[in-house]
Amino acid sequence: MKKQEILYIVVPCYNEEEVIKETTKRLKEKLNKLIKEKIISKDSKVLYVNDGSKDRTWELIEEIHEKEKLFTGISLSRNRGHQNALLAGLMTAKKYADVVISMDADLQDDIDAIDEMLDKYYTGNEIVYGVRNSRKKDTWFKKTTAEGFYKFMKFMGVDIVFNHADYRLASKRVLDELENYKEVNLFLRGMFPLVGFKSDVVYYERNERFAGESKYPLKKMLNFAWDGITSFSIKPIRLVLNIGLIMFVISLIVLIYSLVMKLIGNTVSGWTFIVCSIWITSAIQMLAIGLIGEYIGKMYSETKQRPRYIISKNLNEK
Ligand code: UDP
Ligand code: MG
Repeated sequence: MKKQEILYIVVPCYNEEEVIKETTKRLKEKLNKLIKEKIISKDSKVLYVNDGSKDRTWELIEEIHEKEKLFTGISLSRNRGHQNALLAGLMTAKKYADVVISMDADLQDDIDAIDEMLDKYYTGNEIVYGVRNSRKKDTWFKKTTAEGFYKFMKFMGVDIVFNHADYRLASKRVLDELENYKEVNLFLRGMFPLVGFKSDVVYYERNERFAGESKYPLKKMLNFAWDGITSFSIKPIRLVLNIGLIMFVISLIVLIYSLVMKLIGNTVSGWTFIVCSIWITSAIQMLAIGLIGEYIGKMYSETKQRPRYIISKNLNEK
Protein backbone atom coordinates (compact mmCIF):
# COMPACT_ATOMS: atom_id res chain seq x y z
CA MET A 1 0.00 0.00 0.00
CA LYS A 2 1.44 3.35 -1.01
CA LYS A 3 1.84 6.04 1.62
CA GLN A 4 -1.19 8.29 1.99
CA GLU A 5 -0.02 11.83 1.53
CA ILE A 6 -1.36 14.82 3.46
CA LEU A 7 -3.19 17.10 1.02
CA TYR A 8 -3.87 20.77 1.71
CA ILE A 9 -6.23 22.73 -0.51
CA VAL A 10 -5.36 26.43 -0.39
CA VAL A 11 -8.23 28.81 -1.13
CA PRO A 12 -7.67 32.59 -1.14
CA CYS A 13 -10.81 34.51 -0.18
CA TYR A 14 -11.56 38.18 -0.61
CA ASN A 15 -15.10 39.23 0.32
CA GLU A 16 -16.44 35.74 -0.35
CA GLU A 17 -19.17 35.52 2.33
CA GLU A 18 -21.72 34.58 -0.33
CA VAL A 19 -19.84 31.54 -1.57
CA ILE A 20 -17.84 30.20 1.37
CA LYS A 21 -20.57 27.98 2.87
CA GLU A 22 -21.33 26.23 -0.40
CA THR A 23 -17.62 25.89 -1.18
CA THR A 24 -17.09 24.35 2.25
CA LYS A 25 -19.91 21.87 1.70
CA ARG A 26 -18.56 20.71 -1.66
CA LEU A 27 -14.92 20.54 -0.57
CA LYS A 28 -15.91 18.60 2.54
CA GLU A 29 -17.65 15.97 0.42
CA LYS A 30 -14.64 15.79 -1.87
CA LEU A 31 -12.07 15.45 0.92
CA ASN A 32 -14.13 12.88 2.81
CA LYS A 33 -14.46 10.79 -0.32
CA LEU A 34 -10.71 10.94 -1.01
CA ILE A 35 -9.93 10.03 2.60
CA LYS A 36 -12.41 7.15 2.53
CA GLU A 37 -10.88 5.82 -0.64
CA LYS A 38 -7.49 5.99 1.09
CA ILE A 39 -6.10 8.28 -1.62
CA ILE A 40 -5.06 10.95 0.89
CA SER A 41 -4.31 10.97 4.61
CA LYS A 42 -7.03 11.81 7.13
CA ASP A 43 -4.89 14.76 8.27
CA SER A 44 -5.63 16.52 4.98
CA LYS A 45 -7.31 19.92 5.21
CA VAL A 46 -8.67 22.93 3.40
CA LEU A 47 -6.75 26.11 4.25
CA TYR A 48 -8.71 29.32 3.69
CA VAL A 49 -6.67 32.49 3.33
CA ASN A 50 -8.61 35.59 4.27
CA ASP A 51 -7.12 38.38 2.17
CA GLY A 52 -8.24 41.31 4.32
CA SER A 53 -11.93 40.88 3.49
CA LYS A 54 -14.25 43.71 4.46
CA ASP A 55 -17.28 41.45 4.91
CA ARG A 56 -17.89 38.48 7.23
CA THR A 57 -15.57 36.09 5.41
CA TRP A 58 -13.14 35.67 8.32
CA GLU A 59 -15.89 35.16 10.93
CA LEU A 60 -17.35 32.46 8.71
CA ILE A 61 -13.94 30.79 8.32
CA GLU A 62 -13.54 30.77 12.11
CA GLU A 63 -17.00 29.27 12.54
CA ILE A 64 -16.30 26.58 9.97
CA HIS A 65 -12.98 25.76 11.66
CA GLU A 66 -14.75 25.34 15.02
CA LYS A 67 -17.24 22.88 13.54
CA GLU A 68 -15.20 20.94 11.02
CA LYS A 69 -11.75 19.57 11.68
CA LEU A 70 -11.13 19.40 7.94
CA PHE A 71 -11.05 23.19 7.68
CA THR A 72 -8.51 25.70 8.89
CA GLY A 73 -7.53 29.23 7.97
CA ILE A 74 -5.12 32.12 8.12
CA SER A 75 -5.92 35.81 7.93
CA LEU A 76 -3.70 38.46 6.36
CA SER A 77 -3.34 41.79 8.15
CA ARG A 78 -4.86 43.59 5.14
CA ASN A 79 -5.81 43.05 1.49
CA ARG A 80 -2.67 42.11 -0.44
CA GLY A 81 -4.21 40.81 -3.67
CA HIS A 82 -4.84 37.32 -4.98
CA GLN A 83 -1.21 36.38 -5.75
CA ASN A 84 0.15 37.42 -2.37
CA ALA A 85 -2.72 35.75 -0.55
CA LEU A 86 -2.10 32.57 -2.51
CA LEU A 87 1.62 32.60 -1.73
CA ALA A 88 0.85 33.14 1.97
CA GLY A 89 -1.43 30.11 1.85
CA LEU A 90 1.04 27.90 -0.05
CA MET A 91 3.92 28.74 2.29
CA THR A 92 1.75 28.06 5.34
CA ALA A 93 0.31 24.84 3.95
CA LYS A 94 3.70 23.34 3.10
CA LYS A 95 4.56 23.27 6.81
CA TYR A 96 1.86 20.66 7.35
CA ALA A 97 1.30 19.04 3.98
CA ASP A 98 3.06 16.75 1.49
CA VAL A 99 1.12 18.09 -1.45
CA VAL A 100 -0.88 21.28 -1.97
CA ILE A 101 -3.61 22.22 -4.45
CA SER A 102 -4.56 25.87 -4.94
CA MET A 103 -7.99 26.94 -6.18
CA ASP A 104 -10.38 29.89 -6.15
CA ALA A 105 -13.13 30.26 -3.57
CA ASP A 106 -15.88 30.47 -6.19
CA LEU A 107 -15.38 26.86 -7.40
CA GLN A 108 -15.29 27.98 -11.03
CA ASP A 109 -12.59 25.38 -11.41
CA ASP A 110 -14.13 21.92 -11.44
CA ILE A 111 -13.18 20.19 -8.16
CA ASP A 112 -13.49 16.77 -9.77
CA ALA A 113 -10.17 17.48 -11.49
CA ILE A 114 -8.55 16.97 -8.08
CA ASP A 115 -8.75 13.18 -8.45
CA GLU A 116 -6.87 13.26 -11.72
CA MET A 117 -4.32 15.73 -10.32
CA LEU A 118 -3.62 13.35 -7.44
CA ASP A 119 -3.31 10.44 -9.87
CA LYS A 120 -0.67 12.34 -11.78
CA TYR A 121 1.06 13.29 -8.54
CA TYR A 122 1.21 9.65 -7.40
CA THR A 123 2.74 8.70 -10.74
CA GLY A 124 5.66 11.01 -10.08
CA ASN A 125 4.67 14.52 -11.17
CA GLU A 126 5.71 17.35 -8.87
CA ILE A 127 3.48 19.99 -10.49
CA VAL A 128 0.10 19.39 -12.17
CA TYR A 129 -1.39 22.37 -14.03
CA GLY A 130 -5.17 22.66 -14.33
CA VAL A 131 -5.99 23.80 -17.86
CA ARG A 132 -9.38 25.10 -19.04
CA ASN A 133 -10.78 23.02 -21.82
CA SER A 134 -13.01 25.71 -23.22
CA ARG A 135 -14.59 28.87 -21.95
CA LYS A 136 -18.13 28.15 -23.08
CA LYS A 137 -19.56 29.47 -19.84
CA ASP A 138 -17.48 32.63 -19.62
CA THR A 139 -19.00 35.79 -21.03
CA TRP A 140 -17.76 36.78 -24.49
CA PHE A 141 -15.91 39.71 -22.95
CA LYS A 142 -14.17 37.64 -20.26
CA LYS A 143 -13.22 34.93 -22.77
CA THR A 144 -11.75 37.35 -25.31
CA THR A 145 -9.84 39.42 -22.77
CA ALA A 146 -8.58 36.37 -20.89
CA GLU A 147 -7.42 34.48 -24.00
CA GLY A 148 -5.93 37.68 -25.41
CA PHE A 149 -4.02 37.94 -22.15
CA TYR A 150 -2.34 34.54 -22.64
CA LYS A 151 -1.49 35.25 -26.27
CA PHE A 152 -0.07 38.65 -25.45
CA MET A 153 2.02 37.20 -22.61
CA LYS A 154 3.47 34.57 -24.95
CA PHE A 155 4.20 37.25 -27.55
CA MET A 156 5.97 39.28 -24.89
CA GLY A 157 8.23 36.36 -24.06
CA VAL A 158 6.67 35.08 -20.83
CA ASP A 159 6.58 31.29 -20.63
CA ILE A 160 3.16 30.35 -19.24
CA VAL A 161 0.85 27.37 -19.72
CA PHE A 162 -2.04 28.42 -22.03
CA ASN A 163 -5.39 28.78 -20.27
CA HIS A 164 -3.91 27.77 -16.94
CA ALA A 165 -4.74 30.08 -14.05
CA ASP A 166 -3.89 29.27 -10.46
CA TYR A 167 -5.61 25.90 -10.18
CA ARG A 168 -2.67 23.61 -9.73
CA LEU A 169 -1.10 20.90 -7.62
CA ALA A 170 2.41 21.32 -6.27
CA SER A 171 4.45 19.03 -4.08
CA LYS A 172 6.13 20.20 -0.87
CA ARG A 173 9.47 20.01 -2.63
CA VAL A 174 8.37 22.47 -5.33
CA LEU A 175 7.02 24.84 -2.70
CA ASP A 176 10.28 24.66 -0.75
CA GLU A 177 12.07 25.75 -3.91
CA LEU A 178 9.51 28.43 -4.67
CA GLU A 179 10.26 29.96 -1.30
CA ASN A 180 13.71 30.89 -2.58
CA TYR A 181 12.24 33.19 -5.22
CA LYS A 182 12.35 36.41 -3.28
CA GLU A 183 10.61 38.65 -5.79
CA VAL A 184 7.98 41.07 -4.62
CA ASN A 185 6.01 41.47 -7.87
CA LEU A 186 4.38 38.07 -7.89
CA PHE A 187 3.19 36.26 -10.99
CA LEU A 188 2.89 32.71 -9.71
CA ARG A 189 1.79 31.03 -12.95
CA GLY A 190 5.04 32.25 -14.49
CA MET A 191 7.14 31.20 -11.50
CA PHE A 192 6.10 27.54 -11.30
CA PRO A 193 7.49 26.74 -14.77
CA LEU A 194 10.73 28.41 -13.61
CA VAL A 195 10.99 26.03 -10.66
CA GLY A 196 10.82 23.07 -13.05
CA PHE A 197 10.57 19.37 -11.98
CA LYS A 198 8.36 16.81 -13.71
CA SER A 199 4.97 18.27 -14.52
CA ASP A 200 1.75 17.44 -16.33
CA VAL A 201 -1.60 19.02 -17.15
CA VAL A 202 -5.20 18.10 -16.37
CA TYR A 203 -8.06 19.47 -18.51
CA TYR A 204 -11.34 20.62 -17.01
CA GLU A 205 -14.45 22.60 -17.81
CA ARG A 206 -14.68 26.05 -16.23
CA ASN A 207 -18.01 26.93 -14.66
CA GLU A 208 -19.75 30.18 -13.89
CA ARG A 209 -19.25 31.83 -10.52
CA PHE A 210 -22.22 30.44 -8.56
CA ALA A 211 -22.57 33.52 -6.34
CA GLY A 212 -20.97 36.91 -5.74
CA GLU A 213 -19.10 38.79 -8.42
CA SER A 214 -15.63 38.64 -9.93
CA LYS A 215 -12.86 40.24 -7.90
CA TYR A 216 -10.82 40.56 -11.08
CA PRO A 217 -12.25 43.47 -13.07
CA LEU A 218 -10.53 44.47 -16.33
CA LYS A 219 -8.35 47.05 -14.60
CA LYS A 220 -6.91 44.48 -12.17
CA MET A 221 -6.41 42.03 -15.05
CA LEU A 222 -4.47 44.59 -17.09
CA ASN A 223 -2.32 45.43 -14.07
CA PHE A 224 -1.71 41.73 -13.58
CA ALA A 225 -0.65 41.26 -17.22
CA TRP A 226 1.63 44.26 -17.01
CA ASP A 227 3.18 42.87 -13.82
CA GLY A 228 3.70 39.51 -15.48
CA ILE A 229 5.44 41.00 -18.48
CA THR A 230 7.67 43.45 -16.68
CA SER A 231 8.65 40.92 -14.01
CA PHE A 232 9.45 38.15 -16.46
CA SER A 233 10.48 39.47 -19.82
CA ILE A 234 12.91 41.90 -21.36
CA LYS A 235 11.14 41.68 -24.71
CA PRO A 236 9.48 45.12 -24.43
CA ILE A 237 12.89 46.72 -24.06
CA ARG A 238 14.13 44.75 -27.08
CA LEU A 239 11.11 45.97 -29.04
CA VAL A 240 12.15 49.55 -28.37
CA LEU A 241 15.67 48.72 -29.45
CA ASN A 242 14.33 47.24 -32.70
CA ILE A 243 12.19 50.28 -33.38
CA GLY A 244 15.35 52.36 -32.79
CA LEU A 245 17.21 50.29 -35.38
CA ILE A 246 14.45 50.70 -37.96
CA MET A 247 14.41 54.42 -37.24
CA PHE A 248 18.15 54.55 -37.84
CA VAL A 249 17.75 52.92 -41.26
CA ILE A 250 14.93 55.32 -42.15
CA SER A 251 17.00 58.30 -41.11
CA LEU A 252 19.84 57.15 -43.39
CA ILE A 253 17.42 57.05 -46.31
CA VAL A 254 16.11 60.48 -45.34
CA LEU A 255 19.68 61.78 -45.19
CA ILE A 256 20.50 60.52 -48.70
CA TYR A 257 17.20 61.84 -50.02
CA SER A 258 17.73 65.33 -48.59
CA LEU A 259 21.34 65.39 -49.86
CA VAL A 260 20.09 64.62 -53.37
CA MET A 261 17.43 67.32 -52.98
CA LYS A 262 20.12 69.79 -51.86
CA LEU A 263 22.28 68.95 -54.92
CA ILE A 264 19.30 69.55 -57.21
CA GLY A 265 18.80 72.86 -55.41
CA ASN A 266 15.48 72.11 -53.83
CA THR A 267 16.61 72.82 -50.23
CA VAL A 268 13.45 74.15 -48.63
CA SER A 269 11.78 70.77 -48.61
CA GLY A 270 14.62 69.41 -46.38
CA TRP A 271 13.29 71.43 -43.49
CA THR A 272 10.21 69.20 -43.28
CA PHE A 273 12.37 66.13 -42.92
CA ILE A 274 14.53 67.64 -40.19
CA VAL A 275 11.51 68.65 -38.18
CA CYS A 276 9.92 65.22 -38.68
CA SER A 277 13.10 63.40 -37.63
CA ILE A 278 13.47 65.50 -34.50
CA TRP A 279 9.91 64.76 -33.53
CA ILE A 280 10.07 61.04 -34.18
CA THR A 281 13.40 60.45 -32.50
CA SER A 282 12.44 62.39 -29.41
CA ALA A 283 9.21 60.40 -29.23
CA ILE A 284 11.17 57.15 -29.41
CA GLN A 285 13.56 58.39 -26.78
CA MET A 286 10.74 59.26 -24.47
CA LEU A 287 9.28 55.79 -24.93
CA ALA A 288 12.60 54.11 -24.25
CA ILE A 289 13.19 56.17 -21.15
CA GLY A 290 9.71 55.30 -19.94
CA LEU A 291 10.34 51.61 -20.36
CA ILE A 292 13.76 51.68 -18.72
CA GLY A 293 12.12 53.58 -15.90
CA GLU A 294 9.60 50.76 -15.54
CA TYR A 295 12.36 48.22 -15.04
CA ILE A 296 14.25 50.47 -12.68
CA GLY A 297 11.03 50.80 -10.72
CA LYS A 298 10.82 47.02 -10.46
CA MET A 299 14.44 46.74 -9.34
CA TYR A 300 13.76 49.38 -6.77
CA SER A 301 10.93 47.47 -5.15
CA GLU A 302 12.85 44.18 -5.35
CA THR A 303 15.88 45.61 -3.55
CA LYS A 304 13.69 46.86 -0.74
CA GLN A 305 12.75 43.24 0.06
CA ARG A 306 9.59 44.15 1.87
CA PRO A 307 7.71 41.26 3.43
CA ARG A 308 5.06 40.14 0.99
CA TYR A 309 2.52 39.38 3.67
CA ILE A 310 2.09 39.45 7.41
CA ILE A 311 -0.01 36.73 8.97
CA SER A 312 -1.92 37.99 11.93
CA LYS A 313 -3.57 34.67 12.93
CA ASN A 314 -3.09 31.02 12.17
CA LEU A 315 -5.80 28.69 13.38
CA ASN A 316 -3.47 25.74 13.00
CA GLU A 317 -1.18 27.04 15.72
CA LYS A 318 -3.66 27.88 18.41
N1 UDP B 1 -8.95 37.16 -4.41
C1 UDP B 1 -8.13 37.48 -3.34
N2 UDP B 1 -7.70 38.77 -3.18
C2 UDP B 1 -8.06 39.77 -4.06
C3 UDP B 1 -8.89 39.41 -5.17
C4 UDP B 1 -9.31 38.11 -5.31
O1 UDP B 1 -7.76 36.62 -2.54
O2 UDP B 1 -7.65 40.91 -3.86
C5 UDP B 1 -9.42 35.75 -4.57
C6 UDP B 1 -10.92 35.58 -4.70
O3 UDP B 1 -11.53 35.50 -3.43
C7 UDP B 1 -11.01 34.27 -5.47
C8 UDP B 1 -9.78 34.30 -6.33
O4 UDP B 1 -8.90 35.28 -5.78
O5 UDP B 1 -10.94 33.15 -4.62
C9 UDP B 1 -10.09 34.63 -7.78
O6 UDP B 1 -10.91 35.76 -7.90
P1 UDP B 1 -12.18 35.82 -8.85
O7 UDP B 1 -12.90 34.51 -8.82
O8 UDP B 1 -12.97 37.03 -8.48
O9 UDP B 1 -11.49 36.04 -10.27
P2 UDP B 1 -12.04 35.53 -11.71
O10 UDP B 1 -12.34 34.08 -11.57
O11 UDP B 1 -13.24 36.33 -12.01
O12 UDP B 1 -10.90 35.80 -12.64
MG1 MG C 1 -13.50 33.26 -10.23
